[in-house]
Amino acid sequence: MARVYNFSAGPAVLPEEVLKEAAEEMMDYRGCGMSVMEMSHRSKTYQTIIDEAEADLRDLIGIPDNYKVLFLQGGASQQFAMIPMNLMKNKVADYIVTGQWAKKAWQEAGKYGKANKIASSEDKTFSYIPDCSDLPISEDADYVYICENNTIYGTKFKTLPNTKGKTLVADVSSCFLSEPVDITKYGIMYGGVQKNIGPAGVVIAIIREDLITEDVLPGTPTMLQYKTHADAGSLYNTPPAYGIYICGKVFKWLKKMGGLSAIKELNEKKAAILYDFLDQSSLFKGTVRKEDRSLMNVPFITGSEELDAKFVKEAKEAGLESLKGHRSVGGMRASIYNAMPVEGVEKLVEFMKKFEAENA
Ligand code: PMP
Repeated sequence: MARVYNFSAGPAVLPEEVLKEAAEEMMDYRGCGMSVMEMSHRSKTYQTIIDEAEADLRDLIGIPDNYKVLFLQGGASQQFAMIPMNLMKNKVADYIVTGQWAKKAWQEAGKYGKANKIASSEDKTFSYIPDCSDLPISEDADYVYICENNTIYGTKFKTLPNTKGKTLVADVSSCFLSEPVDITKYGIMYGGVQKNIGPAGVVIAIIREDLITEDVLPGTPTMLQYKTHADAGSLYNTPPAYGIYICGKVFKWLKKMGGLSAIKELNEKKAAILYDFLDQSSLFKGTVRKEDRSLMNVPFITGSEELDAKFVKEAKEAGLESLKGHRSVGGMRASIYNAMPVEGVEKLVEFMKKFEAENA
């Protein structure tokens, strides 16, 4: 078996332990004589799987009882519409635009009400997080929206914006469970799981109960109402059952690793290996303002498109996969999510040093 070091931004690397366990259970899940993939989502066995997944996630984050955990579908992108449809009572929301994903969310919200762009970092290709300590928050804003970690540009909010008492909604797709969070600061925290938690097809939304109401925009489809899923324990219709089962295994793996504080420490260690090298390299350069650097997505360039392409090609030949930057920005990007082992980052830096020496 030859596993590569996979630096993909998502779908992304998962813990080997989880993959092995899933493989072992593939043909016969714990004496059921079938795979979880083949199992009724109404069975007792599956109910235990989804209940345990939710309980472990609650435990990891420390989610209080007044928050619901929903397992949804439609990708993170579907939340761009679901959020305004469910929350825009005044038809006003404030958006902080720090990348393409926040911009898409802002544009989508504009279909349903007045979506104000109250801050942006587009002037410098989204390479920093704007000062959000005193923004012109709208008096009647139903919520303030951020994308907490910008997958494409490699920036992260190190402090949450001052929402002046308004509900904070955050897309945490690319930093989900990478560090401890205080969920009570959020009205909604949501993300696609395909980066840090599991296979594509599952979205997890953690929502404060008072935001889950029947008072949604007229015409909101049943499937796009949070209440539909909250009332049915995420089993209104057939959920992405196998995906949730894998997420559950990743939650258990995280608990075994020591929880979110321990994983944060490990993530900081990995990121430091890469950033420290970038900061002294004569060839490679990070593209993000230092104080806003993400622990998860690390973009870098050589300054030459030709050399960038050569690097990506030769890295792949050396077993370092998917280092090409997002098509909108070019260069390279190493995504070093929870499941990327320290050795993977060490191997990458070793390879960068060699490449630098050969191409000086
Ligand atoms: N938000 C962020 C931060 C992302 O990185 C992505 C890309 N996976 C999305 C939203 C869109 O996710 P999806 O493809 O699941 O709709």
